[in-house]
Amino acid sequence: MPIILTSKRIVPVKEIDEELHLLELWHGPTAAFKDLPLQFMSRLLSKAMDKETAVLVATSGDTGKAALEGFKNVEGTYIIVFYPKDGVSKIQKLQMVTTGGNNTAVIALKGDFDDCQNGVKDIFSDREFKSRFDQEFSSANSINWGRLAPQIIYWFHAYSSLLRKNRIQRGEKVDIVVPTGNFGDILSAYYASKMGLPVGKFVCASNDNNVLTDFFRTGTYNADRQLKKTISPAMDILISSNLERFLFDITGKQSGKIREWYSKLDKKEKFTVDRKTKQKMDEIFHGEYATEEETLHTIGKYYEEHDYPLDPHTAVGVKCYEKYREKQSDEKVTLLASTANPFKFSTAVLKGITGQKTFEDKFENIERLRKKTGWPVHRGLKGLQKKEIKHDYCSRNKIRKKISEILKKLSEENKSI
Ligand SMILES: *Cc1c(COP(=O)(O)O)cnc(C)c1O
Repeated sequence: MPIILTSKRIVPVKEIDEELHLLELWHGPTAAFKDLPLQFMSRLLSKAMDKETAVLVATSGDTGKAALEGFKNVEGTYIIVFYPKDGVSKIQKLQMVTTGGNNTAVIALKGDFDDCQNGVKDIFSDREFKSRFDQEFSSANSINWGRLAPQIIYWFHAYSSLLRKNRIQRGEKVDIVVPTGNFGDILSAYYASKMGLPVGKFVCASNDNNVLTDFFRTGTYNADRQLKKTISPAMDILISSNLERFLFDITGKQSGKIREWYSKLDKKEKFTVDRKTKQKMDEIFHGEYATEEETLHTIGKYYEEHDYPLDPHTAVGVKCYEKYREKQSDEKVTLLASTANPFKFSTAVLKGITGQKTFEDKFENIERLRKKTGWPVHRGLKGLQKKEIKHDYCSRNKIRKKISEILKKLSEENKSI
């Protein structure tokens, strides 16, 4: 089963200037970095399991499509994605419901994302229900180790690419900047450094939902605040689920301490790490954030100066890189994760580049951005209007029935092939 990519180099490194290098992680089928780990994970799962696997995913948008593409037609697997009926954008919905493949299903659920998430969680803890199937049930969410492990690889790849281009000497430390949501991508870079990758500082970049920025500055994680909707939606998160793993490692694996902090987070929505842990974090991590206005401005500036359209998530990273540089006299070569193709967020990118009002219709914005930049539209976003639609919906109390029907139907279809 070949993996679909829009670049032969898989994760090309784009040089902005001598110091700033963007790791383009968006050449997979859905134009965002989650494609890379999900394509890898599905194949690992298919090889490792001696039973068929049914993967259930609750999504608020992008993960669903990346998971569908990751598992599409992978032998021995089925994937069922649930999304909140009115909770995803028109393009996100079209991307999902036009997925082909002989093992995929997409269900719109009445309710919001929490209903989806809880509906799926209920299934995982329902032993009686699961025992009725030949398949094993699994999830593909961002704390799955099968997603984290493959991400470690591209940091080494990027470093060797800098070596090959003579931008760094062997053993020279680089800084790493990552636009962060659930703390998965930056954690994989941290693990890479533990495996020997020479890293100076990790810059954890956030948008207006700057819980992590405050955490790295003060040592207090405070989730007691309102979630803001931004133009970098994949980073609109208040509780970054992978942070716990980082803290476990940096405290020298003191599980008691982590349990205490996280039960505080559960009860009081905040916790504070001890002084020693804070010192250790300060040595390697720096937290920054970019406002909405700064993000749009950065998109415009880099397009003007470098002829390169940054997607809003990457632009948050770039602004944080600039802010970090201003504060510290650090001139290390920097690797920055570029996490989405600009066409995936055409409206914000177009606004950043032209400074003008954009159109209500997302497809209009994609077309305008194409004309303006001369860049090709990423193939995962092309011709969505014309594709065949596979669609289904149900309410939360019918989830079990729906899953049974789908698995029965898909496995019969697969047997008859
Ligand atoms: C998921 C995502 C992120 C955040 O990655 P985490 O591993 O959750 O920190 C950033 N940018 C884009 C485009 C994403 O899809």
